[in-house]
Amino acid sequence: MDFTLSEEHRMIRDSVREFCDAEVAPIAQEIEDEHRFPAGVFDRLAELDVMGVPIDEKWGGLGGDQLMYALVTEELGRVSGAIGLSYAAHVSLGAKPIELFGTDEQRERWLRPLATGEHLGAWALTEPGSGSDASDMDTTARKDGEEWVLNGTKQFITNANVAGSVLVKAVTEPDGGYSGISTFVVDPADDGFEVSTVWDKMGLNASPTCEIQLNDVRVPAD
Ligand SMILES: Cc1cc2nc3c(=O)[nH]c(=O)nc-3n(C[C@H](O)[C@H](O)[C@H](O)COP(=O)(O)OP(=O)(O)OC[C@H]3O[C@@H](n4cnc5c(N)ncnc54)[C@H](O)[C@@H]3O)c2cc1C
Repeated sequence: MDFTLSEEHRMIRDSVREFCDAEVAPIAQEIEDEHRFPAGVFDRLAELDVMGVPIDEKWGGLGGDQLMYALVTEELGRVSGAIGLSYAAHVSLGAKPIELFGTDEQRERWLRPLATGEHLGAWALTEPGSGSDASDMDTTARKDGEEWVLNGTKQFITNANVAGSVLVKAVTEPDGGYSGISTFVVDPADDGFEVSTVWDKMGLNASPTCEIQLNDVRVPAD
């Protein structure tokens, strides 16, 4: 097996490494100490065109593979674990599922701004009463005409207070087990969506970890 990186992979890795050494490493300790999410770093990552590395170019991504995405995440994590965490949550949790499972209309509306770095993404699965056993969740989505109405609390959600969209998991069929859980793209600006806590952690504090409340959040059925 050949483990040599291709020219393209080395080029991306080296340009992100250069950026990290020049612009992230000098502020890495400061943003941790101040518990500050570095929005400017993510603006620069968008300029470097790496906010959607494994997303198809058709949707504004770079069209890279998982190895390329891993190399970028590794370089970011090398200088700031918190930035690596928020970046990985944005790509793997907030964006990629829309490419894999969304409709073209949803990809155009929600994935493109994530892949270009206009918005950050988040994913809300964990709850105060369900972590490893994620299927034991209490958040519900009830159909009301052409809308779904979401209610519940989500816990430890990376990027929720800085995201342009949050993929919220909710029970749509109470007796349906795993297949009774659905994913909804929620706009944090929607009525009923509230970030109730941004936790202080033992580390990775430049990556926001949030509790969110969903009180009758209405999402269109399409
Ligand atoms: C920094 C950070 C960021 C996060 N970001 C997100 C996010 O963006 N979105 C999101 O949805 N969630 C997020 N999470 C939540 C994370 O996914 C959960 O913490 C994780 O699923 C574990 O759940 P829990 O904390 O409730 O622990 P628990 O499930 O209560 O587990 C506690 C301990 O028990 C062990 N354990 C659990 N079940 C068993 C079993 N059956 N047998 C043996 N041992 C077991 C576990 O290994 C663990 O050591 C984040 C968490 C952190 C710390």
